[in-house]
Amino acid sequence: MHIAVIGTGYVGLVSGTCFSEFGHEVICIDTDKEKIKSLNNGKVPIFEPGLQAMIEKNAKAGHLKFGTDLKEAVANADAVFIAVGTPSRRGDGRADLTYVYAAAKEIAAALNGYTVIVTKSTVPVGTGREVGRIVQEANPSAEFDVVSNPEFLREGAAIEDFMRPDRVVVGTTEKRAQDVMSAIYRPLSLSRTPLVFTSIESSELTKYAGNAFLATKITFINEIADLCEKVGANVHDVARGIGLDGRIGSKFLHAGPGFGGSCFPKDTRALFETSSDVGAPLKIVEAVININETRKRQMAARITEACGGSVAGKIIAVLGLTFKPNTDDMRESPSLDILPALITAGATVRAYDPEGMDEARPLLDGVEFCQNSYGTLENADALVIITEWNEFRALDLTRVKSLMKTPVMVDLRNIYDPADMTDKGFAYTSIGRPI
Ligand code: NAD
Repeated sequence: MHIAVIGTGYVGLVSGTCFSEFGHEVICIDTDKEKIKSLNNGKVPIFEPGLQAMIEKNAKAGHLKFGTDLKEAVANADAVFIAVGTPSRRGDGRADLTYVYAAAKEIAAALNGYTVIVTKSTVPVGTGREVGRIVQEANPSAEFDVVSNPEFLREGAAIEDFMRPDRVVVGTTEKRAQDVMSAIYRPLSLSRTPLVFTSIESSELTKYAGNAFLATKITFINEIADLCEKVGANVHDVARGIGLDGRIGSKFLHAGPGFGGSCFPKDTRALFETSSDVGAPLKIVEAVININETRKRQMAARITEACGGSVAGKIIAVLGLTFKPNTDDMRESPSLDILPALITAGATVRAYDPEGMDEARPLLDGVEFCQNSYGTLENADALVIITEWNEFRALDLTRVKSLMKTPVMVDLRNIYDPADMTDKGFAYTSIGRPI
């Protein structure tokens, strides 16, 4: 199969690379010339474990190419995947579909023979039909079908998720398009990955329903954690106790500072707007959005409390800035709420993140960025762990304590043991685990 992927962000680049690993001929297109230039020079513009090696291998074998010429790529393709961004539209929280529709128009003009146009971007119900309308209008003689094929990969584990997904959802009822999609995903069906064929609408909604459910699960355990603190229970034990129930499952039951990232916040907002527009407002999702926003803001107050009621004039060392480990993605990370609030309250904030510093710098004015974990700690009044990178799980705590002015630790990811930390002489606060 010849595949063109439009947009080389976290999803487009991973999808295109994995399709080439499946054995297809892939060209990835982006309007960002710098991105394409760096990819053609062997430099991967994002941090995603395993991606660099897979790109090198397939590019060298000639199966994976990068370019800016959408026209030629689309003309030669059996399937064109739209993987451009769908950020929150400023002001109303709806998905901004400008990039999707712009790509659709460009694709329309370049179609050559029967082509399947696939929306891999997360798009609200109705977008696939609108893409079809745009293409038809721009190129009435074009032979094409529009298919929805949402992506469920997680940043930080994207290659593994793409190569071994729980399922692949394909929204089309057209036999010809189903055959093309089956051929593309054939290596996965050989390993018994279910291909779930649905209507376009069901597929589009499946993606949002999935993300909203996971965001709800996180928010639920976060609220249980708050309750644990009030009643002297331990959220780890409660999460384990409920998670072992097969009907509930143990994933996404880790209490923390609130969800962030490139998907959950924007997708819950967009889903709520869609549901309101059609007169079936999802009240659970609305509550999740509001609780999570409030929670992220509350984290600075938690840190202030751990510092004795004020952070003014204090040095706060922060470890972890990205919204989760193993990515450089800073989109809607809790750190973007927490650090500015601490600075506004008069703190000096020093921070370190293993991969997110380049992304973080332009977003976090007034923060001193350090070279490593220990570099943040000298004379610090408190240490705050915001992202659970592995390297923060095994800090030399004797060294940490000796570097700090006062051994106050606020562990927003529960990566240390409260009793152990108290034994080691730390004033230790975590989430939902009273000492
Ligand atoms: P991104 O912002 O990292 O990348 C989008 C890319 O598209 C950019 O490089 C941009 O330059 C390019 N682009 C925009 N318009 C273009 C055009 N007309 N032609 C060519 N390139 C164009 O976005 P992302 O995180 O990869 O997300 C893409 C989509 O996938 C979104 O809808 C997102 O919701 C969805 N998604 C993301 C994830 C994730 O973990 N990031 C997971 C599942 C689904």
